[in-house]
Order: sequence, then structure tokens, then C-alpha cells
Amino acid sequence: MPKPAEATPVYDLEEEKEQILSRYRGLLRAVRGDRTTDGTRLIRKAFNIALEAHKDQRRKSGEPYIYHPIAVARICAEEIGLGVTSVAAALLHDTVEDTDLTLEDVRDMFGDTVCTIIDGLTKISGVNWQTDSMQAENFRKVLLTLAQDVRVILIKLADRLHNMRTLESMSREKQLKIASETLFLYAPLAHRLGLYNIKSELEDLSLRAKEPALYHDIEHRLKKGESVRKRFISRFILPIREALEKEQFEFEIKGRPKSIYSIYQKMLTKHVTFEEVYDLFAIRIIVDSKPELEKADCWKVYSIVTDFYQPSPDRLRDWISMPKANGYESLHTTVMSPGGKWVEVQIRSRRMDQVAEMGLAAHYRYKGEEEHANAMDSMLNRIREILADPGSNALDFVNDFKLNLFNDEIMVFTPKGEMRNLPAGSSALDFAFDIHSQIGRHCIGAKVNHKLVPLSQALRNGDQVEVITSRKQQPKAEWLNYVMTARARHKIKQALREQKRKLAIVGREAVQRKLRAWGAKLNAENIAILADHLLATSPTDLYWQIAREQKDLDAMPAPAVKNGRLILPKGVRPKEERRLEEIVAEIRGTQGSTLTIGDELQSMEYKLSPCCHPIPGDDVFGFITPEGIRIHRVNCPNAVQLMSNFAMRIVKARWKGKDSVEFLAGIQFSGIDAVGIVNRITTIISHENNVNMRSINFESKDGIFEGKVMAYVHDAEHLHSLVEKLRSVPEVRRVERIDH
Ligand code: MN
Repeated sequence: MPKPAEATPVYDLEEEKEQILSRYRGLLRAVRGDRTTDGTRLIRKAFNIALEAHKDQRRKSGEPYIYHPIAVARICAEEIGLGVTSVAAALLHDTVEDTDLTLEDVRDMFGDTVCTIIDGLTKISGVNWQTDSMQAENFRKVLLTLAQDVRVILIKLADRLHNMRTLESMSREKQLKIASETLFLYAPLAHRLGLYNIKSELEDLSLRAKEPALYHDIEHRLKKGESVRKRFISRFILPIREALEKEQFEFEIKGRPKSIYSIYQKMLTKHVTFEEVYDLFAIRIIVDSKPELEKADCWKVYSIVTDFYQPSPDRLRDWISMPKANGYESLHTTVMSPGGKWVEVQIRSRRMDQVAEMGLAAHYRYKGEEEHANAMDSMLNRIREILADPGSNALDFVNDFKLNLFNDEIMVFTPKGEMRNLPAGSSALDFAFDIHSQIGRHCIGAKVNHKLVPLSQALRNGDQVEVITSRKQQPKAEWLNYVMTARARHKIKQALREQKRKLAIVGREAVQRKLRAWGAKLNAENIAILADHLLATSPTDLYWQIAREQKDLDAMPAPAVKNGRLILPKGVRPKEERRLEEIVAEIRGTQGSTLTIGDELQSMEYKLSPCCHPIPGDDVFGFITPEGIRIHRVNCPNAVQLMSNFAMRIVKARWKGKDSVEFLAGIQFSGIDAVGIVNRITTIISHENNVNMRSINFESKDGIFEGKVMAYVHDAEHLHSLVEKLRSVPEVRRVERIDH
């Protein structure tokens, strides 16, 4: 049937012009009062250039494209608190990528700073996020740009936030993809940068896109309980309000419900019902204090609150005396309300509140640029350090980094009383590496609160730690089991690689000496023959084993040599029982080495995970469990969780080319019911290169059928061709792979 001709949309251009101007004026109002004439001129210039460059473009929704950069710039000013340079860059952020404007044009018109920011933004969005492993690579790229100028990532976050707010006009697939990326990368980044509001909004919007029914259900229930909650809050704060007024404080009290996403997370991870979490909320008291009285005022408020309500002694958090690494300052206490419910009370000054809401960018307005730079620098330095290592692999890197993003912090002290922030769960060894990489490398133990402990000891909030070192100490592979900071992991891996490189040289020299002594040629062929004979997996593996004295060439009878070529039988691998850890350590330890699925040589116990049914050709990774290695698809629903929480137990895996082995895969499809449809579909499946069906079931209701088939296929390509065949049936409207 021919498609009806698409009607050309009619736009009211006059009305749009009005809109554009009014949005632009809104942006100018949002840029803070300290805007100078020069600043205004810069913004106007950027606006005019962007308007001209995007003049013929429209968004998916049909709106003029310029609405988007204006909105992004406004988020930068209003919600992140960025200054005029960033606002100008935000207005221009899509010009180089999507219009005829070049980077040189931008440099000529706006100078180097704006140009560098635009360049970074263009690079980030220039990559496409197709698979999760590419996501990992891209994550690296994003951080690389972040390390150049943090404004790039702040503007990118604003861009992402606006795209998330206007997600409806996208196709369903696009929505899901953008929402996953947001959860995977942008929300954690916003969190790390201290942008709590943006982080929660990104999470909520992602959840709304991914699980609309669930989202709206929680939203609806929150609405329903709102009046009860409001009544409770106003009763709770009444006496506090009166006392604060009597003390002549200038203040604001807010009752804040939890975000929908955090309620969802709690329900999911703690297996509790909505009713058990929904009424958890925080009361926030913000005092307008003079800078020198901030701390004293907050404690005064604390004292007033606890005059009325009993505090829980173990839930007092003083992030005023010791701010979090991302700049967060606040005083938290949890008190008992008359109704018998615990209520969290957050006490902070207006300045602290703005830092908490807008992140470190807000420091610009309160502290000098220098102090701000210091706070940012310690984080950026760590990122730079990790990025600088050419040997680190993208997925490892993301796992390490995310591990650090998601964790709470503890505060520990050096013997001189200097405070260090570390992720919760850090060990004495993490602490040693945090102080200095040389101290980490030579660490043999530590004194925690004057008591001698092993270097694997987990640290707790408030511990005072003294590192004990020895010049003889060398990093060991098992150290990776008890560090959790990216920095320590990275430094240990680096040291291990260095050791291996040195060992390989020693081993190679021994092999060369021996070959010479036997009168054999020093060539790759002879080395391969020797490696095969001694059951080494590669020449490098042979060198290591010899250097570590696991193989002894001197104990070997001299082999026969013919025309310079060694005559040695292939080694026979004994069927020994090796411990899983040893095998894993060997495989993980060999740089660039991978668990090859379908390769008997590796004598590795693995099973294909039943949760995602990987088949050859799928992007996969191995996950170490006590029962052996489980192979998961990289896009398995459990993968993000496994990778971010158990990075240590991930091994790289790939398929060993095509095999005759068959794998079970599931396909689900639906469409319009028709006579004989079941028969036609089963015929297609069983005629497709001898696909072996295990089960098939059909359900039909109101003229729509749904079918599920489990079949044995050879690899992902094979499965794909089957899916394509099914798609070619006219009645079939939707075909997709299923995991169960
Ligand atoms: Mn954009």
C-alpha cells in the first residue's frame, strides 16, 4: 500500500521569532547579576552566530533548533551557576558538529578558551555509543576531555539534561539508549561533581524512559501521600521555627521527599514495599549567616533541633568541619519525631546549600578561583594519572573508576593529623598509595590507631594510619584483591607489568644462552618448539616461567639438533587439578591475554550464564564465581552491576572463531494473527540451516499473536539471519531476542 504523502508542516514563523527572543531574554535574566557589558556582548554575539548557523534546522519535535542551545545555556547559568564564557560556549555547543561553522571560525570570533571548550564538546558527541564496550572506551574519552577543562563536562551535562527533558519526541529505541547512557555515565559524573539536583533529575528522567509504568506508579503514590506528608512536616518544624525566630535567625526550612529513582532503588535493592520507603524524607534548614559565623550558627541550630527531638548518636555527620571531597558541606543528624519515626535533619548555610545544589561551580561565586581550582585539582589529577597509562584497558578503567564513583567516603588521618578522603572499604594499602605511590609499593603493613595491622586491613572512619615500609618490598599480584581505589589498582598493575617486563628479559637471555649451548639457531621457530615442549602458552610465557624458576632448562637433557633446528616432542599437559585462583591469576596476569571460549588449551572451567544465554559472536566477559567462570553477554541486565561492583572478578573473554557447537537462544515475536501463521513460522525456523528447535509456543488474543521459540544456533550471525527471516513474514510485526 502506498504511503500517504507526508504533509509539509506549517510553522508560524512570526510566533517562533517572538518565542526565540523571549527565550533569549530569559537566558540573559538567568545569567547572574555580576554580568558586565562585555559579558552581555559576548552572549549576544554567541546567540546571533548560533541563531544564524542553526536557522534552517529543527529538532525532532519540529521546534526551531535554537531552542535547544538557549535552553542548555540557561541550565548552565541557572542550575550549574556557570559564568558568561560557559554560557556563550553552551549557545555554540552544537554549531561545529551540526552546521557549516568550523572550529577555526569559532576561534577567530571567540578566542581560544571558547574554542577549546567547543572542541571538547564536539569530540565527546562525535563518538557513537553502540555497544557497552564502546561505552567504556567513550567513558575514557569523556574523562579525557574533562581533564582538560571541567566546563566541557558541565556543559555536556546541561546538554544531556535538556535532551532528557525533551526525550518524548525520540523513537522508543533512542529513548532507551539515551536513558541507559545517562544512568551509566552522566548521572554518576554529576554526582561526582557534586551536582546533586542534576544527578537526581537525570536518574528520574532515565527511569521514566526505561520503566514508564513503574515511574508513574511511584509518582502517583507520592502525590497521594503528599498532604499527609506536608501535615507531618509542618507539625514537625513548628517548634523549631518558633525557636529559630526567637533567636533572630534568618532561615528557610524545607521538607524534601526522596527522588523517585532513589525510592525505586531502595525498593529494588532492599526488597521493600513503597510504603516502607516513601515517607523517608529529609528536613533541611538553611541559615543566612555571615561567613565567619557559618559554623557556629549551624551548631546553634543543631542544638535547638535536639532540644525538641532526641538525636540518634551514631547518625551525626559533620561535613562542615571536614567537607567531602566533592566540596559538600552540611551537618546531618537523625532525630526521633513524636510519631516514633526517624527524620533526617540537614543543617547548612546558604552558601553550603548552593555548593550542594550546584556543585563545585558554585565555589566560583564564594571563593577565589584559586581555592576552587584546588578542590577540583585533586580529583582531576587522579583522573589524569589513570588516563596517562597506555597499558590500562578501557573496560578495566571504567570498572575501577565507577567503583570509586559509587562509593561513600571515609575520612582517615595521617600520623600528623592530615585528613585524607578515601572510598568506604579502602584498605591500609589504599591509604599507602594515596599518600604516595612509592610508599604504596614498599608497604609491608600499617599501624592503625597505634595497633599493628596487615596491609589488607579495611579502614574505618576516623582511623589514624601510619604506613610501615620496607625497601625490599615489591607489589604482588594478590594485592589487587585488597585495594579498592582506582589509583592503587592502577599503580599496582603498572608495577606488576614492569616486573614482568624485567622478568621476561631475564628469561629470554636464559633461553638464548641455552639454545647457543645446544648448537641450535636463535630463531622464533626454535623458541616456539621449546615453548610447546615445556607447555608454555607463548614465548613470553616461557620466559616468565623460566625467570620465576617454574621451568628449569638445566634439568632438561640436551635435545637433538638437526640443521640448527631443535628436535623435541610436543609437551603433554598433565590433567592436573589446578586451583581456580591460580588459573585466573595466570590468565589475568598475562597482559593482553583473554579467556578464549572454546579453547581447550586454557583448561578453564567456564559455563555460559543462563541469565543472558550468550552465543558465539556476542560481546562477552567472564565473571569468576566459586563454581568457576560464568560467561555473560556484555549487555546482560546483570552486567553493569557485576562490572561496577566486582571489577576484580571480571576476566576478558572472546570466542574462538566458529565452532560446530550449538547454543540455545530465544526469540520472541508478535504480529497479526492469520490462518496458517504457526505453520509458516515453524517451517522457516526449521529450514534455516538445520536449526534445531527446543520449544515453541504461540498465544493468540484478539487477532494478535505472540510467539516464543527456543532454538539451537551456531552463533550470533546465525541467530541474526533467523531473526531477519522471521521479519520477512508479512504478518510478523516485531521480532526480538529474549534472555530467558
Ligand atoms: Mn546539544
